[in-house]
Amino acid sequence: MRIALVNPTWTFTQSIYFGCREAHLPIELGACKVLLEAAGHEVLMRDGALDGLGLDALAEEVAAFRPAMTVVTTAPTYLFWRCAQPELRVPRAFLEALGDRGGTTVAVGPHGSVTPETTLAKLGCDLVVRGECEEVVAALAAGGLAAPARVPSLAFREEGAITVTGGPAATHFTDLPALAWPDGWIARHHHHHHRFDRAPDGPGAEVEASRGCPYSCTFCAKIDFRDTYRRRELPLVLAEIDRLIAQGVTYIYFIDEIFLPQKPLLEALVGREVAFGVQTRIDLWKPDMLDLLGRAGCVSIEAGVESLTEEGRALLDKNCRASTDDLAERLIHARRSVPFVQANLIKVAGDDPDLVAAWRDRLRAAGVWANDPVPLYPYPSSPDYRRLWGAPDGQAWERAHAHYLAQFDRFSEIQEERPAPLTELESACCPA
Ligand code: SF4
Repeated sequence: MRIALVNPTWTFTQSIYFGCREAHLPIELGACKVLLEAAGHEVLMRDGALDGLGLDALAEEVAAFRPAMTVVTTAPTYLFWRCAQPELRVPRAFLEALGDRGGTTVAVGPHGSVTPETTLAKLGCDLVVRGECEEVVAALAAGGLAAPARVPSLAFREEGAITVTGGPAATHFTDLPALAWPDGWIARHHHHHHRFDRAPDGPGAEVEASRGCPYSCTFCAKIDFRDTYRRRELPLVLAEIDRLIAQGVTYIYFIDEIFLPQKPLLEALVGREVAFGVQTRIDLWKPDMLDLLGRAGCVSIEAGVESLTEEGRALLDKNCRASTDDLAERLIHARRSVPFVQANLIKVAGDDPDLVAAWRDRLRAAGVWANDPVPLYPYPSSPDYRRLWGAPDGQAWERAHAHYLAQFDRFSEIQEERPAPLTELESACCPA
């Protein structure tokens, strides 16, 4: 079967989007591709940014390929599924440009994972995949297109109603083969995600060594995907990294929700000519492992501290056993061997602004960056959403968006313009 996999050309004008706006490898599509090709299918994978194509040009390339199935993602990469842009206008615009020339159209991503019926309606596509998508897409190609009711984790229209074949998929993941990326994409991947110690000295890339997280912080949007913690077999991860190094990559960012201390991986990285960045929880790292992390080539740590009081962290269900002082000491220890260390703070009701300012100053004096606490967006896949409003329904994204816009009168330092209401951003989408 001929299958097109598409990461559309993203624009985020007036979006609340919290993710990085540079181009990253669309890991979910790369994972689909490796499984599809192993099963003998012919795959066209296109990325608007990395191929330098606008939405119309993307649609023309896909149409010329004459696929039986076109898969489009609703978030720029797996890395940002937990903080995706709420609006679906970009994948919708791609699907409109493609029209009926892409075979069966399939949407994958965080939106359809939690609100499949709404996503189907807003996008006007044929199928929506719930949850981690690569094995479901492979099942569709393996005969599932002819009988979608037999494929789990799908939503589709049938006789005037929408059928949902089950909850979100979680992939096996541990045996996901090494992903392979086109040379042209790597050559154009100039961005080193979350790296601030120096300018890029070669191409960057993203890699996934583990998926999911054993914690369940209240603000974290991972109930419907990338939830259970799984570690990928080390030889597969190293094969992927070695392929990237051979393509000239000098920096990789591990997209793992939580990069846990893993001695064999770190020891394998010590001998490789590549720097890397991670997101993790600093309370899980002992000093000797932090030293190994630095020796292995880590140049960027983003650590979620969230609140500076034990009560605040408990309110967020951080399940953190370390004291605020311990956290500061470990961050400062990490900074001895890792050139950029960031403590992430979240705006929590009741946090003392003077305490926050003093703590930030203390850490900054030791070379550790701590951000101005950012407000929370109650993503429909987060426990926070469900605490506020129960199970997500057809208005879940609109409700979360309106709540966010109303709750704060000033916005994150990374947002340059006033965000617009969701209905305005999605005015071109079908009514939900
Ligand atoms: S530690 Fe908390 S915020 Fe981080 S990935 Fe896990 S659940 Fe999400």
